[in-house]
Amino acid sequence: MTPQYDAIVVGAGFGGMGAAIELKRLGHHDLLILEREDDLGGTWHVNRYPGLAVDIPSSTYSYSFEPNPHWSRLFAPGEELKRYAEHVADKYDLRPSMRFGVEVTGAAWRDDHWEVTAGGETVTARYLVTATGFLSMPKTPDIAGIDTFAGKVVHTAAWEPTDLTGKRVAIIGTGATAVQLIPELAKSASALTVFQRTPIWVSPKPDYRIPRAARTLFARLPFVQRAVRWLGSSILELMMISGVVHYKQLRIANRLAERWCRTHLHRQVRDPGLRRKLTPDYSFGCKRPTFSNDYFRTFTKPHVHLETATVERIDATGLVTANGRVDVDVLVLATGFDLWDTNFPAFEVIGRDGEDLGAWWRQNRFQAYEGVTVPGFPNYLSLNSPYSYSGLSYFTTIECQMTHMRRLFTAMRARNAQLFEVTRQANDEFLERMRTKVARNSVFSLGQCATAHSYYFNQHGEATLLRPTSTISAHRAASRFPVEHYKYSPIPAEAHRARLNGRRESA
Ligand code: NAP
Repeated sequence: MTPQYDAIVVGAGFGGMGAAIELKRLGHHDLLILEREDDLGGTWHVNRYPGLAVDIPSSTYSYSFEPNPHWSRLFAPGEELKRYAEHVADKYDLRPSMRFGVEVTGAAWRDDHWEVTAGGETVTARYLVTATGFLSMPKTPDIAGIDTFAGKVVHTAAWEPTDLTGKRVAIIGTGATAVQLIPELAKSASALTVFQRTPIWVSPKPDYRIPRAARTLFARLPFVQRAVRWLGSSILELMMISGVVHYKQLRIANRLAERWCRTHLHRQVRDPGLRRKLTPDYSFGCKRPTFSNDYFRTFTKPHVHLETATVERIDATGLVTANGRVDVDVLVLATGFDLWDTNFPAFEVIGRDGEDLGAWWRQNRFQAYEGVTVPGFPNYLSLNSPYSYSGLSYFTTIECQMTHMRRLFTAMRARNAQLFEVTRQANDEFLERMRTKVARNSVFSLGQCATAHSYYFNQHGEATLLRPTSTISAHRAASRFPVEHYKYSPIPAEAHRARLNGRRESA
């Protein structure tokens, strides 16, 4: 049968939009982009909490082929990211392909196309791309009595404007989101209690307003902004990637990053007891570190209290720990997202032989060739896969995947094929290479990660989220992987027709 679309892309965030741009460049214009939210932008549409901003310099956290000379700061606020997403959708004419408020619940391979169940309907396409994000399923902590709390409970990923003036506020969680939010909450709450289970490594944030003259320069001479991007990315690569994935070889970079964060804490917090509580006991990079200039300082304010005892239960008026109870009016959950239980994949995906991707990943290992494709799942690109995330920035991940798509689709076209499937051998070898790199070089196996509670690790204790290579090597692999790592074929009906024609001719 002829499917309705060339490709269905699930997710209208930066990943889905990047894939759609690449598919259009490859000549696939008949696209359907399905998004469960009511607008595009992914994370940057959903997250609206006060203090929301990028924690990677904006010149790096954007598409290299679509630089934005208008960022107001080195680390742009969240609403500018949302505007940038809208600009990209308009410039690359993606909006007409987008459908909002449509939740995909399943996808199954049918001989030569994908059948996708979305909003109770079935749509079909030759190719399926899932770009559902890593951090898209908010996690509510399983704390006894949480449902009985009579005040307001709000997760950071479902923020509602709330006047906190004079209110007693508690926040659970001290991840990268909480680091941005806590200083903002402290500005209006009459009392703020921060419940911390695991401290986070926080480095100073070199965040400055970008003067109008510099923005004009970036607009007129884009290579200047490219140079800034290159410089920022190189520093980040050294600090956030090299000392993490090449911990064995560059332990010094890891130690320097740790020292840098400790000095930052020391400068902002004089009380040694408080400092101790805020100091991680795991190696830098075991979990996502972040940047902030006012996080540590906030804990020195008289109305802000750091609580490190476990929350045993919650009742109608507050939270109870071994240290006593804390009565609050508003409870903020900065408790992050479910990754490994619910998000790999985000909905049921059934492959060629009826294989269920989620079950297969859980029964075998979490794996995907170059973090993009899976054997047994033809014509399927899974952008949020194991080993796909290049730790530098989500945009380096997306652009590597776009390059991979370009090489794959070009090879397929050169063979007059319309179907692709990665070979088991290529996938197995890639998995083995990634596992060896994690085991031999990375902080995940050579550092102290046991107490980090990091979402980089899956439920089996394996660090299968980050690609354990440098960004340069990820780009190189995307543009040079052996095209024989895939099997290519015409669609079965065409192959059948060609065979019949051949027989007729020979008769
Ligand atoms: P997160 O890093 O997963 O942090 C969740 C926090 O909640 C952790 O401190 C965790 O403690 C705590 N927590 C979870 N369940 C708990 C429970 N039952 N009891 C007590 N504490 C509990 O989530 P996030 O802060 O939302 O950040 C997620 C990611 O978003 C970041 O790593 C980053 O990649 C991204 N992010 C990016 C930006 C950006 O600007 N680009 C900004 C914000 C966030 P444990 O550590 O002990 O589990």
